[in-house]
Amino acid sequence: MNIDDKLFLDRYVVDETPHIKIIDPDACGLCKKKQCIYTCPAQCYKMEDGKVIFSYEGCLECGTCRIICNEHKNIEWNYPRGGFGISYKYG
Ligand code: SF4
Repeated sequence: MNIDDKLFLDRYVVDETPHIKIIDPDACGLCKKKQCIYTCPAQCYKMEDGKVIFSYEGCLECGTCRIICNEHKNIEWNYPRGGFGISYKYG
C-alpha cells in the first residue's frame, strides 16, 4: 500500500476556519530552504509561481511544519477546533 492509498483511508471534518496559517506570505519568499514543501507528509505546502501556497484541508495534524519552519518562524499552528480535523482509520 503506497502513501496515497493510506491517506485515502483518512476521514476529515474540515473546519471553515483554518487551524494553521502562514503569518507573513512575503517571508516565505525570503526562506532559503522552504522545508515545508519537502517535509509535509500530506503535501499541504506547494510552490506555485514562485510562491508558497498552503491548503490546510488535508492536514494530518502531525506538527512537522510547526517545527521545521525555523528560519522565519512563519507558521501559526493550532489543532482544529473540537469536532473538526482528521480521523485515522488505522493508527
Ligand atoms: Fe503538513 Fe503536518 Fe503541517 Fe499538517 S501539521 S500541514 S500534515 S506538516
